[in-house]
Amino acid sequence: MAAPVPPYLRRYGVAVGAVLLATLARWLLDGVLGGHLLFLGYYIAVVIAAWLGGFGPALLADVLGCLVVSLLFLPPRYSLDLSAKANLVSLASFFGLSIAIGLIGRSLRLAQRRGVESAQEALARQKQLEQEIVQRMRSEEAVQQQREWLRVTLASIGDAVIATDTQERITFLNPVAEALTGWPAAEAIGKPLEQVFRVIHEQTRQLIDNPIARALREGTAVGLANHTALIARDGTERPIDDSASPIRDREGQTVGVVLVFRDVTEHRRAEEALQASERRFRALIERSWDGISLMDAAGILRFASSSATRILGYPPDELVGRNAFDLMHPDDLRRTLDLLAELLQQPGGTVSADFRYRHKDGSWRWLETVATNLLADPGVQAIVINTRDITDRKQAEEELRSANRTKDEFLATLAHELRNPLVPLRNALYLIGRLNGHDEQLDKARSMMERQVQHLVRLVDDLLDVSRIGRGKIELRKEPVDVQSVVASALETSRPLIEAAGQQLTVALPPEPIYLQADPTRLAQVVSNLLNNAARYTDAGGRIELSVEPASGGCQPPGEVIIRVRDTGIGIPPEMLPRIFDMFTQVDRSLERSQGGLGIGLTLVQRLVEMHGGRVEAHSPGPGQGSEFVVRLPVVAAPAPRPPSWTITPAGEGGAALSGCRILVVDDSHDTAESLAMILRLSGHEVHLAFDGPGAIAAALTHRPDVALLDIGLPGMNGYEVARCLREDHGLTQTVLVALTGWAQTEDRRRAQEVGFAHHLVKPVEPEALHRLLLSLKAPPKAGATRPQPVHA
Ligand code: ADP
Repeated sequence: MAAPVPPYLRRYGVAVGAVLLATLARWLLDGVLGGHLLFLGYYIAVVIAAWLGGFGPALLADVLGCLVVSLLFLPPRYSLDLSAKANLVSLASFFGLSIAIGLIGRSLRLAQRRGVESAQEALARQKQLEQEIVQRMRSEEAVQQQREWLRVTLASIGDAVIATDTQERITFLNPVAEALTGWPAAEAIGKPLEQVFRVIHEQTRQLIDNPIARALREGTAVGLANHTALIARDGTERPIDDSASPIRDREGQTVGVVLVFRDVTEHRRAEEALQASERRFRALIERSWDGISLMDAAGILRFASSSATRILGYPPDELVGRNAFDLMHPDDLRRTLDLLAELLQQPGGTVSADFRYRHKDGSWRWLETVATNLLADPGVQAIVINTRDITDRKQAEEELRSANRTKDEFLATLAHELRNPLVPLRNALYLIGRLNGHDEQLDKARSMMERQVQHLVRLVDDLLDVSRIGRGKIELRKEPVDVQSVVASALETSRPLIEAAGQQLTVALPPEPIYLQADPTRLAQVVSNLLNNAARYTDAGGRIELSVEPASGGCQPPGEVIIRVRDTGIGIPPEMLPRIFDMFTQVDRSLERSQGGLGIGLTLVQRLVEMHGGRVEAHSPGPGQGSEFVVRLPVVAAPAPRPPSWTITPAGEGGAALSGCRILVVDDSHDTAESLAMILRLSGHEVHLAFDGPGAIAAALTHRPDVALLDIGLPGMNGYEVARCLREDHGLTQTVLVALTGWAQTEDRRRAQEVGFAHHLVKPVEPEALHRLLLSLKAPPKAGATRPQPVHA
């Protein structure tokens, strides 16, 4: 880029240019002008140079003009011969005039420059003035705007605002203040504050010093005391909340006070409602009979209601801050800590537990506790615990359990004791039957007695079973059984009752065997209980249907078999159906309907079915419309055929039946022993008696019997000890030992087998069952006393 031309060069350039132009013009006009007006163009060039460039360029144009004219135009042309006087005069006058023009031009230029400069100065001053004016206008506008903004703000603010001067005279009042005081601003302004703003203490009703005076005095912001009420111009009163602050100018001088206040009626109401609610809930918690406490995640108690004192003896402040688990019974601690861990995993969840807690007096109290995890609730942030003292209930439960145990034990004893007289009675009846000639009356009376004894035996059996249920002592001897054979056995038991009641029985069995893993005796008891009930609660001529069918799952595992017993009898009212399986439940306790039951048959049915992994349901459309009992049991696969493990010799088959043998009967009940002996003697056996353990041993050693029927519960030595003593101490091995027991448990059977018993007969022994057993025993070998094979009773 070309460097800018310096101003002086420009100025002198103008002079040179002007001279060149003048020379060109003179050259062109030379022919026309001849020797006239030689310097005209150069005067003009000097004037231009002086005007535009100043004195220096004018002088340059002057000198150049003299040279050019004398060289080019003055005769003799093209030489600098200035010898002609006229030329010299012309040149001197041109030079002198040009100098004068240059000087005039210079002073004109200077004057012009000064004028321009002062004009510029004036312009600048004017501009500055204008700017100042604009600025002032702007700031005035801003102040105006601010004032307006302040006015609008104070007017639209929700709080009431009053400003005063230092004399406590009102200078400003916003609309809210107008509304609350009842004073329009126009009237209030200029008035003393206490005239417009009258405040009293709500409770003492005394006038309160207005806060302005204090703000002025103390020079700081001040607030009103609580419970301040403003009395409006019309006398209405409303609670207010306020504060006053001094207003200061730029220099920090207090020029007034601004008072801000608001109507707190709504706030006060909400506060009162909140307080009332708080009081209510506090009373609920404090008066609650239950203990209510809050615990953090670490188990530290953060709050305890005052009922804690009643429950645990500790005042709440002795519990707060303490670990809630410190006072817990060590045996309950692990379980409860596990529950807490579980609860911590479930925000909002609830767990409950019973545990023992140490009372301040050292005793243990049972507490029932429900805990809810509200740790995530921002308003609570704790585990809420509701605690109830259930020590009395626990004691009552324990007493109840103990009473129940006592009852079960009593039932067991009662059944046992009732059973004892039944045995000789039944034996005696049997004997009467065998000995009676053809006296029809006597026969009738005997069979009636037999039926009643049979009934008594059933009741006693039920009683025994119920006591066993209560003590959890029922045991099953499960084996794979065919349901048809179970039903056949039940039918054998129940059919006489159904026939005697004159009812029509239909039985529907599946063609294929269905197998169950079951105790056949107990399952037959279930079915026969249901059949007996059907017979008992159905009038003569009614129908009883027994059916066995596979459930929809089929007769293979995991299917079920359904046994239904349906009757057309008295039915069951719907409200009784849910309770029908409860112990001692009877729909109609009136004597004519009670049918001699104890209300435990169905309880036994349900318990036994459940012990077999099944379930039982009762259905009935209602009274008079018959009932249906449905038993469902899980089926098992058909068992592989087993080689018989027992040798059974039925009467009349194979070896000779055991007759005319020597039998020892041992029972502490003389009547039982003697009646049994009489029955056996009648069959041609030689019978010896003993009534206690040592007597039994002595008799066995004396008579060396073929069979010994040993009661287990004997005075002196029990039946097991007698058996062991005979076998081991005295080597009496040829005698077949038969135990007379109740429903023997597995443990009893194992023990009995260990000490040498070959059989069990359930008391009271049926004479027929005893005969069957004796007949089934093989005649003992004549020589070599070997132990006979065990035989099923
Ligand atoms: P109970 O020895 O009284 O018969 P259960 O436990 O066997 O005791 O039966 C309880 C009650 O259920 C009976 O007293 C009877 O009211 C009612 N019940 C049982 N089976 C039937 C049935 N097949 N029809 C009508 N009611 C029945």
